[in-house]
Amino acid sequence: MIPLHPVPEAKHTCPFCQTLLKPLGWQIPGMRNLADLVCSTCGREFYGDLPAGQALYTPLLLEKKTGVVHDPYGIDWFAEWLSGSYAARKDYPIPFAAHERLPITKHVVLLNCLDTIYGHCLLKLLNAQHYIDRRPDVDLIVMVPSLLEWMIPDGVAQAWVVDLPLQRGTEWNDWLAREIRRRLQQFTTSSLSVAFSHPHPDDFDIERFTRVKPFALDEWSTDIRRPSVTFIWREDRLWSNVRQPQARGLEKIKRQFTLEARPVKIQAELLVTLAEALRQEWQDVDFAVAGLGRSEKLPDWIKDLRQQEVNTDIERQWCTRYGASHIVVGVHGSNMILPSAHAASVVELIGEDRWGNFLQDLLFRPGDTREMFFRYRFLETNVTAPGLARLLTSMLRGLPKFRYLMDPRFCKHGID
Ligand SMILES: [Zn+2]
Repeated sequence: MIPLHPVPEAKHTCPFCQTLLKPLGWQIPGMRNLADLVCSTCGREFYGDLPAGQALYTPLLLEKKTGVVHDPYGIDWFAEWLSGSYAARKDYPIPFAAHERLPITKHVVLLNCLDTIYGHCLLKLLNAQHYIDRRPDVDLIVMVPSLLEWMIPDGVAQAWVVDLPLQRGTEWNDWLAREIRRRLQQFTTSSLSVAFSHPHPDDFDIERFTRVKPFALDEWSTDIRRPSVTFIWREDRLWSNVRQPQARGLEKIKRQFTLEARPVKIQAELLVTLAEALRQEWQDVDFAVAGLGRSEKLPDWIKDLRQQEVNTDIERQWCTRYGASHIVVGVHGSNMILPSAHAASVVELIGEDRWGNFLQDLLFRPGDTREMFFRYRFLETNVTAPGLARLLTSMLRGLPKFRYLMDPRFCKHGID
Protein backbone atom coordinates (compact mmCIF):
# COMPACT_ATOMS: atom_id res chain seq x y z
CA MET A 1 0.00 0.00 0.00
CA ILE A 2 1.26 3.45 -0.83
CA PRO A 3 0.24 6.30 1.48
CA LEU A 4 -1.87 8.58 -0.74
CA HIS A 5 -3.98 11.11 1.14
CA PRO A 6 -3.39 13.76 2.34
CA VAL A 7 0.27 13.65 1.25
CA PRO A 8 1.60 10.69 -0.70
CA GLU A 9 4.83 8.88 -0.13
CA ALA A 10 6.90 9.47 -3.26
CA LYS A 11 10.60 9.13 -3.90
CA HIS A 12 11.42 11.06 -7.05
CA THR A 13 14.59 13.05 -7.64
CA CYS A 14 14.81 16.33 -9.52
CA PRO A 15 16.46 15.52 -12.87
CA PHE A 16 18.20 18.94 -12.81
CA CYS A 17 19.40 19.17 -9.19
CA GLN A 18 19.43 15.49 -8.18
CA THR A 19 17.70 16.44 -4.91
CA LEU A 20 14.73 14.55 -3.51
CA LEU A 21 11.47 16.17 -4.61
CA LYS A 22 9.00 17.24 -1.97
CA PRO A 23 5.50 15.74 -2.25
CA LEU A 24 2.74 18.33 -1.81
CA GLY A 25 -0.30 16.28 -2.72
CA TRP A 26 -1.62 13.85 -5.33
CA GLN A 27 -3.55 13.76 -8.57
CA ILE A 28 -5.44 10.84 -10.18
CA PRO A 29 -6.74 12.11 -13.53
CA GLY A 30 -7.41 8.60 -14.91
CA MET A 31 -5.17 5.55 -15.10
CA ARG A 32 -2.17 7.52 -13.79
CA ASN A 33 -1.67 7.84 -10.02
CA LEU A 34 0.56 10.86 -9.51
CA ALA A 35 2.34 12.67 -6.71
CA ASP A 36 2.35 16.46 -6.92
CA LEU A 37 6.01 17.36 -6.44
CA VAL A 38 8.25 20.41 -6.14
CA CYS A 39 12.01 20.82 -6.11
CA SER A 40 13.12 22.89 -3.12
CA THR A 41 16.37 23.76 -4.92
CA CYS A 42 15.26 24.99 -8.37
CA GLY A 43 11.54 25.43 -7.70
CA ARG A 44 10.45 23.32 -10.69
CA GLU A 45 7.16 21.46 -10.29
CA PHE A 46 6.49 17.91 -11.38
CA TYR A 47 3.99 15.08 -11.40
CA GLY A 48 5.62 11.77 -10.53
CA ASP A 49 4.12 8.30 -10.91
CA LEU A 50 3.29 6.57 -7.66
CA PRO A 51 4.64 3.00 -7.84
CA ALA A 52 1.44 1.16 -8.84
CA GLY A 53 0.81 -1.05 -11.87
CA GLN A 54 3.46 -0.56 -14.58
CA ALA A 55 4.81 2.39 -12.57
CA LEU A 56 5.92 -0.07 -9.89
CA TYR A 57 8.68 -1.00 -12.36
CA THR A 58 9.12 2.29 -14.18
CA PRO A 59 7.89 5.37 -12.26
CA LEU A 60 8.20 8.41 -14.53
CA LEU A 61 8.37 12.11 -13.89
CA LEU A 62 6.57 14.84 -15.82
CA GLU A 63 7.63 18.47 -15.66
CA LYS A 64 4.44 20.53 -15.26
CA LYS A 65 5.57 23.64 -17.14
CA THR A 66 7.02 21.99 -20.23
CA GLY A 67 5.15 18.68 -20.29
CA VAL A 68 8.49 16.91 -20.77
CA VAL A 69 8.58 13.39 -19.36
CA HIS A 70 11.85 12.28 -17.80
CA ASP A 71 12.21 8.59 -18.54
CA PRO A 72 15.41 6.99 -17.26
CA TYR A 73 14.04 3.53 -18.15
CA GLY A 74 13.57 4.05 -21.90
CA ILE A 75 10.00 2.79 -21.61
CA ASP A 76 8.70 4.74 -24.61
CA TRP A 77 5.09 3.57 -24.64
CA PHE A 78 4.54 4.35 -20.96
CA ALA A 79 6.23 7.76 -21.31
CA GLU A 80 4.18 8.57 -24.40
CA TRP A 81 0.90 7.76 -22.61
CA LEU A 82 1.84 10.30 -19.92
CA SER A 83 3.16 13.09 -22.14
CA GLY A 84 0.41 12.62 -24.74
CA SER A 85 -2.43 12.63 -22.22
CA TYR A 86 -0.98 15.66 -20.38
CA ALA A 87 -0.66 17.60 -23.63
CA ALA A 88 -4.30 16.78 -24.48
CA ARG A 89 -5.77 17.30 -21.01
CA LYS A 90 -9.55 17.14 -20.90
CA ASP A 91 -11.94 18.67 -18.42
CA TYR A 92 -15.46 17.40 -18.84
CA PRO A 93 -17.70 15.01 -16.94
CA ILE A 94 -17.65 11.34 -17.81
CA PRO A 95 -20.18 8.79 -16.49
CA PHE A 96 -19.03 7.89 -12.98
CA ALA A 97 -21.12 5.69 -10.70
CA ALA A 98 -20.10 5.08 -7.10
CA HIS A 99 -21.75 1.99 -5.66
CA GLU A 100 -21.55 1.88 -1.88
CA ARG A 101 -21.67 -1.80 -1.00
CA LEU A 102 -20.43 -1.84 2.59
CA PRO A 103 -20.03 0.88 5.20
CA ILE A 104 -16.53 2.34 5.39
CA THR A 105 -15.20 2.25 8.93
CA LYS A 106 -11.49 1.54 8.47
CA HIS A 107 -8.48 2.83 6.56
CA VAL A 108 -9.36 3.22 2.88
CA VAL A 109 -7.34 1.65 0.05
CA LEU A 110 -8.03 2.64 -3.55
CA LEU A 111 -7.34 0.05 -6.25
CA ASN A 112 -7.24 1.94 -9.55
CA CYS A 113 -7.87 -0.48 -12.44
CA LEU A 114 -8.27 2.10 -15.21
CA ASP A 115 -6.06 1.45 -18.24
CA THR A 116 -6.17 1.43 -22.00
CA ILE A 117 -5.35 -2.27 -22.34
CA TYR A 118 -8.04 -4.78 -21.37
CA GLY A 119 -5.56 -7.24 -19.86
CA HIS A 120 -3.93 -4.55 -17.72
CA CYS A 121 -7.31 -3.52 -16.24
CA LEU A 122 -8.28 -7.12 -15.50
CA LEU A 123 -4.95 -8.10 -13.94
CA LYS A 124 -5.02 -5.05 -11.68
CA LEU A 125 -8.52 -5.98 -10.49
CA LEU A 126 -7.27 -9.41 -9.34
CA ASN A 127 -5.33 -7.56 -6.61
CA ALA A 128 -8.66 -6.90 -4.85
CA GLN A 129 -8.77 -10.32 -3.21
CA HIS A 130 -5.60 -9.67 -1.21
CA TYR A 131 -7.20 -6.77 0.66
CA ILE A 132 -10.55 -8.51 1.09
CA ASP A 133 -9.03 -11.71 2.49
CA ARG A 134 -5.80 -10.69 4.13
CA ARG A 135 -6.22 -7.10 5.25
CA PRO A 136 -9.09 -6.95 7.73
CA ASP A 137 -7.75 -3.57 8.83
CA VAL A 138 -8.72 -1.82 5.58
CA ASP A 139 -11.79 -1.05 3.48
CA LEU A 140 -11.29 -1.41 -0.26
CA ILE A 141 -12.53 0.88 -3.01
CA VAL A 142 -12.04 -0.42 -6.54
CA MET A 143 -12.21 1.87 -9.56
CA VAL A 144 -12.84 0.01 -12.81
CA PRO A 145 -13.82 0.75 -16.40
CA SER A 146 -17.46 -0.27 -16.87
CA LEU A 147 -16.53 -3.34 -18.95
CA LEU A 148 -15.10 -4.95 -15.80
CA GLU A 149 -17.96 -4.13 -13.42
CA TRP A 150 -19.24 -7.72 -13.67
CA MET A 151 -15.97 -9.05 -12.24
CA ILE A 152 -15.90 -6.95 -9.06
CA PRO A 153 -15.73 -9.47 -6.20
CA ASP A 154 -17.91 -9.48 -3.10
CA GLY A 155 -16.30 -7.78 -0.15
CA VAL A 156 -15.29 -4.45 -1.68
CA ALA A 157 -16.66 -1.49 0.25
CA GLN A 158 -17.23 0.70 -2.80
CA ALA A 159 -17.14 0.13 -6.56
CA TRP A 160 -16.44 3.20 -8.66
CA VAL A 161 -17.43 2.44 -12.21
CA VAL A 162 -16.13 4.79 -14.86
CA ASP A 163 -17.70 4.51 -18.28
CA LEU A 164 -14.48 5.20 -20.14
CA PRO A 165 -13.91 3.09 -23.26
CA LEU A 166 -10.54 1.32 -23.46
CA GLN A 167 -9.38 3.43 -26.38
CA ARG A 168 -9.63 6.48 -24.10
CA GLY A 169 -8.02 4.64 -21.19
CA THR A 170 -4.90 6.82 -21.02
CA GLU A 171 -6.95 10.03 -20.92
CA TRP A 172 -6.01 12.75 -18.43
CA ASN A 173 -9.29 14.23 -17.24
CA ASP A 174 -9.24 17.03 -14.66
CA TRP A 175 -12.95 16.59 -13.99
CA LEU A 176 -12.30 12.95 -13.03
CA ALA A 177 -9.34 14.01 -10.89
CA ARG A 178 -11.59 16.42 -8.95
CA GLU A 179 -14.29 13.77 -8.56
CA ILE A 180 -11.81 11.25 -7.14
CA ARG A 181 -10.34 13.90 -4.83
CA ARG A 182 -13.77 14.96 -3.60
CA ARG A 183 -14.63 11.39 -2.72
CA LEU A 184 -11.32 10.43 -1.09
CA GLN A 185 -11.20 13.66 0.90
CA GLN A 186 -14.12 12.39 2.96
CA PHE A 187 -11.66 10.10 4.69
CA THR A 188 -8.90 11.43 6.90
CA THR A 189 -6.27 9.23 5.28
CA SER A 190 -6.17 6.77 2.43
CA SER A 191 -3.70 4.58 0.57
CA LEU A 192 -3.25 3.40 -2.98
CA SER A 193 -2.96 -0.27 -3.92
CA VAL A 194 0.28 -1.21 -5.69
CA ALA A 195 -1.94 -3.08 -8.19
CA PHE A 196 0.58 -5.69 -9.29
CA SER A 197 0.54 -6.05 -13.07
CA HIS A 198 1.19 -9.78 -12.82
CA PRO A 199 -0.45 -11.06 -9.63
CA HIS A 200 0.77 -14.43 -8.41
CA PRO A 201 -1.60 -17.37 -9.04
CA ASP A 202 -1.70 -18.07 -5.30
CA ASP A 203 -3.06 -14.59 -4.67
CA PHE A 204 -6.48 -14.92 -6.26
CA ASP A 205 -9.24 -17.35 -7.01
CA ILE A 206 -10.81 -16.59 -10.37
CA GLU A 207 -14.21 -17.88 -9.27
CA ARG A 208 -14.44 -14.99 -6.80
CA PHE A 209 -14.35 -12.64 -9.78
CA THR A 210 -16.28 -14.41 -12.56
CA ARG A 211 -18.53 -16.54 -10.33
CA VAL A 212 -17.76 -19.41 -12.73
CA LYS A 213 -16.18 -22.65 -11.55
CA PRO A 214 -12.96 -23.60 -13.32
CA PHE A 215 -12.58 -27.12 -14.74
CA ALA A 216 -12.12 -29.59 -11.88
CA LEU A 217 -8.61 -30.87 -12.63
CA ASP A 218 -9.21 -34.19 -10.89
CA GLU A 219 -12.12 -34.93 -13.18
CA TRP A 220 -9.98 -35.39 -16.29
CA SER A 221 -11.04 -38.95 -17.03
CA THR A 222 -8.54 -41.74 -17.65
CA ASP A 223 -10.69 -42.93 -20.53
CA ILE A 224 -11.78 -39.74 -22.15
CA ARG A 225 -14.95 -40.27 -24.18
CA ARG A 226 -16.01 -36.79 -25.16
CA PRO A 227 -13.21 -34.24 -24.93
CA SER A 228 -14.11 -30.58 -24.82
CA VAL A 229 -11.82 -28.30 -26.79
CA THR A 230 -12.38 -24.56 -27.27
CA PHE A 231 -10.61 -22.45 -29.84
CA ILE A 232 -10.28 -18.79 -28.82
CA TRP A 233 -11.05 -16.68 -31.85
CA ARG A 234 -9.77 -13.23 -32.66
CA GLU A 235 -9.40 -11.60 -36.04
CA ASP A 236 -6.61 -9.10 -35.46
CA ARG A 237 -3.97 -11.66 -34.53
CA LEU A 238 -4.30 -14.95 -36.31
CA TRP A 239 -3.35 -18.57 -36.46
CA SER A 240 -1.57 -17.31 -39.45
CA ASN A 241 -0.06 -20.18 -41.34
CA VAL A 242 -0.73 -18.55 -44.66
CA ARG A 243 0.68 -21.63 -46.28
CA GLN A 244 -2.30 -23.41 -47.74
CA PRO A 245 -2.65 -27.16 -47.83
CA GLN A 246 -0.76 -28.50 -50.80
CA ALA A 247 -2.88 -28.52 -53.92
CA ARG A 248 -2.54 -30.93 -56.78
CA GLY A 249 -3.87 -31.20 -60.31
CA LEU A 250 -6.86 -29.04 -61.15
CA GLU A 251 -6.91 -27.44 -57.70
CA LYS A 252 -3.32 -26.29 -58.19
CA ILE A 253 -4.11 -24.74 -61.56
CA LYS A 254 -7.26 -23.06 -60.16
CA ARG A 255 -5.24 -21.49 -57.36
CA GLN A 256 -2.86 -19.89 -59.77
CA PHE A 257 -5.77 -17.89 -61.16
CA THR A 258 -7.47 -16.91 -57.92
CA LEU A 259 -6.55 -14.36 -55.30
CA GLU A 260 -4.89 -15.66 -52.16
CA ALA A 261 -7.46 -16.44 -49.49
CA ARG A 262 -7.93 -13.88 -46.74
CA PRO A 263 -5.98 -14.66 -43.56
CA VAL A 264 -9.18 -14.85 -41.46
CA LYS A 265 -10.61 -17.35 -43.95
CA ILE A 266 -7.42 -19.39 -43.66
CA GLN A 267 -7.71 -19.37 -39.87
CA ALA A 268 -11.28 -20.68 -40.16
CA GLU A 269 -10.14 -23.41 -42.56
CA LEU A 270 -7.31 -24.40 -40.25
CA LEU A 271 -9.55 -24.70 -37.23
CA VAL A 272 -12.13 -26.74 -39.14
CA THR A 273 -9.33 -29.07 -40.26
CA LEU A 274 -8.20 -29.27 -36.63
CA ALA A 275 -11.69 -30.05 -35.39
CA GLU A 276 -12.18 -32.67 -38.13
CA ALA A 277 -8.91 -34.36 -37.18
CA LEU A 278 -10.10 -34.58 -33.58
CA ARG A 279 -13.40 -35.97 -34.82
CA GLN A 280 -11.45 -38.80 -36.39
CA GLU A 281 -10.28 -39.68 -32.88
CA TRP A 282 -13.56 -38.98 -31.06
CA GLN A 283 -16.63 -38.96 -33.25
CA ASP A 284 -18.54 -37.05 -30.61
CA VAL A 285 -15.85 -34.46 -29.81
CA ASP A 286 -17.23 -31.31 -28.20
CA PHE A 287 -15.48 -28.57 -30.17
CA ALA A 288 -16.37 -24.90 -29.74
CA VAL A 289 -15.13 -21.55 -30.94
CA ALA A 290 -15.48 -18.48 -28.70
CA GLY A 291 -14.22 -14.95 -29.02
CA LEU A 292 -14.63 -11.68 -30.85
CA GLY A 293 -15.55 -11.53 -34.55
CA ARG A 294 -17.92 -13.62 -36.63
CA SER A 295 -16.19 -13.84 -39.99
CA GLU A 296 -16.60 -17.10 -41.90
CA LYS A 297 -19.36 -19.61 -41.32
CA LEU A 298 -18.40 -22.72 -39.39
CA PRO A 299 -19.90 -26.22 -39.78
CA ASP A 300 -22.99 -26.86 -37.68
CA TRP A 301 -21.31 -29.53 -35.55
CA ILE A 302 -18.88 -26.94 -34.21
CA LYS A 303 -20.40 -24.85 -31.39
CA ASP A 304 -20.06 -21.29 -32.63
CA LEU A 305 -20.08 -19.00 -29.57
CA ARG A 306 -18.38 -16.09 -31.33
CA GLN A 307 -19.82 -12.59 -30.95
CA GLN A 308 -19.26 -9.18 -32.48
CA GLU A 309 -19.45 -7.46 -29.10
CA VAL A 310 -19.33 -8.59 -25.50
CA ASN A 311 -21.59 -7.94 -22.55
CA THR A 312 -21.79 -9.46 -19.08
CA ASP A 313 -24.01 -12.36 -20.15
CA ILE A 314 -21.69 -13.29 -23.00
CA GLU A 315 -18.60 -13.02 -20.77
CA ARG A 316 -20.21 -15.41 -18.26
CA GLN A 317 -21.36 -17.77 -21.02
CA TRP A 318 -17.83 -17.86 -22.41
CA CYS A 319 -16.28 -18.43 -18.97
CA THR A 320 -18.71 -21.30 -18.38
CA ARG A 321 -17.53 -22.83 -21.64
CA TYR A 322 -13.85 -22.37 -20.70
CA GLY A 323 -14.57 -23.98 -17.33
CA ALA A 324 -15.97 -27.01 -19.15
CA SER A 325 -12.97 -27.28 -21.50
CA HIS A 326 -10.20 -29.83 -21.19
CA ILE A 327 -8.09 -27.61 -23.43
CA VAL A 328 -8.37 -24.06 -24.73
CA VAL A 329 -6.34 -23.21 -27.83
CA GLY A 330 -5.61 -19.72 -29.08
CA VAL A 331 -3.16 -17.13 -30.26
CA HIS A 332 -1.23 -15.22 -27.56
CA GLY A 333 -2.92 -12.15 -26.14
CA SER A 334 -5.34 -10.85 -23.53
CA ASN A 335 -7.97 -13.03 -25.23
CA MET A 336 -6.29 -15.93 -23.37
CA ILE A 337 -6.55 -14.52 -19.83
CA LEU A 338 -10.00 -15.78 -18.84
CA PRO A 339 -9.82 -18.99 -20.93
CA SER A 340 -6.56 -19.99 -19.22
CA ALA A 341 -7.97 -19.13 -15.80
CA HIS A 342 -10.89 -21.55 -16.20
CA ALA A 343 -9.83 -24.40 -18.54
CA ALA A 344 -7.85 -27.43 -17.41
CA SER A 345 -5.04 -26.83 -19.91
CA VAL A 346 -3.82 -24.41 -22.54
CA VAL A 347 -2.16 -24.62 -25.93
CA GLU A 348 -0.98 -21.20 -26.96
CA LEU A 349 0.18 -20.20 -30.42
CA ILE A 350 2.82 -17.54 -29.99
CA GLY A 351 4.85 -15.92 -32.73
CA GLU A 352 8.30 -14.45 -32.40
CA ASP A 353 6.82 -10.94 -32.30
CA ARG A 354 5.16 -11.80 -28.95
CA TRP A 355 8.03 -13.64 -27.26
CA GLY A 356 8.80 -10.50 -25.25
CA ASN A 357 5.36 -10.82 -23.63
CA PHE A 358 5.66 -14.53 -22.83
CA LEU A 359 3.22 -15.74 -20.11
CA GLN A 360 1.84 -12.26 -19.50
CA ASP A 361 -1.53 -13.32 -20.91
CA LEU A 362 -2.05 -16.50 -18.92
CA LEU A 363 -3.55 -17.14 -15.50
CA PHE A 364 -2.17 -20.47 -14.35
CA ARG A 365 -3.98 -23.19 -12.48
CA PRO A 366 -1.20 -23.99 -10.02
CA GLY A 367 -0.14 -27.58 -9.49
CA ASP A 368 2.84 -29.90 -9.51
CA THR A 369 5.64 -28.24 -11.49
CA ARG A 370 6.00 -31.14 -13.91
CA GLU A 371 2.28 -31.34 -14.50
CA MET A 372 2.30 -27.62 -15.31
CA PHE A 373 4.73 -28.33 -18.17
CA PHE A 374 2.25 -30.90 -19.43
CA ARG A 375 -0.82 -28.70 -19.17
CA TYR A 376 0.67 -25.55 -20.73
CA ARG A 377 2.13 -25.84 -24.22
CA PHE A 378 3.45 -23.21 -26.60
CA LEU A 379 3.72 -23.53 -30.35
CA GLU A 380 4.58 -21.22 -33.23
CA THR A 381 1.59 -19.58 -34.91
CA ASN A 382 2.36 -21.42 -38.15
CA VAL A 383 1.75 -24.87 -36.70
CA THR A 384 -0.19 -27.06 -39.10
CA ALA A 385 -3.71 -28.21 -38.25
CA PRO A 386 -2.78 -31.92 -38.27
CA GLY A 387 0.28 -31.17 -36.10
CA LEU A 388 -1.84 -29.28 -33.59
CA ALA A 389 -4.46 -32.05 -33.63
CA ARG A 390 -1.76 -34.63 -32.80
CA LEU A 391 -0.59 -32.54 -29.83
CA LEU A 392 -4.15 -32.08 -28.52
CA THR A 393 -4.84 -35.81 -28.89
CA SER A 394 -1.64 -36.65 -27.06
CA MET A 395 -2.56 -34.31 -24.20
CA LEU A 396 -6.18 -35.46 -23.98
CA ARG A 397 -5.22 -39.12 -23.82
CA GLY A 398 -1.94 -38.71 -21.99
CA LEU A 399 -2.55 -36.59 -18.87
CA PRO A 400 -3.75 -39.40 -16.56
CA LYS A 401 -0.75 -41.60 -17.42
CA PHE A 402 1.62 -38.65 -17.08
CA ARG A 403 0.17 -37.89 -13.65
CA TYR A 404 0.59 -41.49 -12.57
CA LEU A 405 4.24 -41.61 -13.70
CA MET A 406 5.01 -38.33 -11.95
CA ASP A 407 2.99 -39.06 -8.82
CA PRO A 408 4.90 -37.80 -5.76
CA ARG A 409 4.39 -41.26 -4.20
CA PHE A 410 6.86 -42.63 -6.72
CA CYS A 411 9.49 -39.99 -6.10
CA LYS A 412 9.80 -40.27 -2.37
CA HIS A 413 12.87 -41.98 -1.00
CA GLY A 414 11.98 -44.50 1.62
CA ILE A 415 10.36 -46.86 -0.86
CA ASP A 416 13.79 -47.66 -2.41
ZN1 LIG B 1 15.55 20.97 -9.09
